[in-house]
Amino acid sequence: MIAPYRPGEAGFLRPEVPAVCPFAEAGDACAVGVHHWRERRTGPRHPLMVARCAVHEVAFTVYPPGHVPYGQRALVAVGPDGSAVRDGDASATLLEAARDAADGRAWERSIPTWSDADPDPDLDLPGWWSTQRRHLDLALRLTGVDPELDDRAREARCGALDVDTLVTMEGARAIRDRPGYRARGRAVVDVLAALPTSPLRRLLAAGHLAGLWGPPLWWDGAVLRPLAFRPAERGADGVSSASAIRSTNLGRGPPAAPG
Ligand SMILES: [Zn+2]
Repeated sequence: MIAPYRPGEAGFLRPEVPAVCPFAEAGDACAVGVHHWRERRTGPRHPLMVARCAVHEVAFTVYPPGHVPYGQRALVAVGPDGSAVRDGDASATLLEAARDAADGRAWERSIPTWSDADPDPDLDLPGWWSTQRRHLDLALRLTGVDPELDDRAREARCGALDVDTLVTMEGARAIRDRPGYRARGRAVVDVLAALPTSPLRRLLAAGHLAGLWGPPLWWDGAVLRPLAFRPAERGADGVSSASAIRSTNLGRGPPAAPG
């Protein structure tokens, strides 16, 4: 679940406690409270709320806008309350890898070193080739330029993104012609350039179609809204089973609800 984080007491960033949980059916009453706060080494620079619904006996993480239950990095650069930050600032987002690839900037190929000083190095830091390749791969699926996508899945992706299918078809063809990281990056960047302004919700919907995360649910302080997506058009690579939705929404939160 996604909800804006705003400064509360003592400047501590927190979202409003949602009134409903992701498992509520129409008419269900929920009893949601804060279960605990989750510290993260990377990703949002503040603790995330893990809420628990006593009625449906589930715990779920409340993510700030821009962050999705995937990896450690923001999808797009927005503030914790969802407001836009500096224009075009893609640094430290999942899409930075694609922009660098398009410009022919390959990240470091050296392997992170384990040492006594750092016995558990973070493998998702920016700057490593394996990270760039992984993020680039994700960006290909997200933007619908993955050459492996079938036409229906590509059209669904474009519908979610509000981008002309032609842009993604040309990108996919360019990658087939020259399957290097530059062509991949360029195809992604072309789609990003064609996106409407403030594309966060559209990217979240497209990522759901790509099977990258569960249906994005947005708690706006009053209503839990599923962001626009078209379930009927989920492509072959889409994941929409209830179990996938649940496991993604639960993320790596508490595995079992305590009594
Ligand atoms: Zn509930």
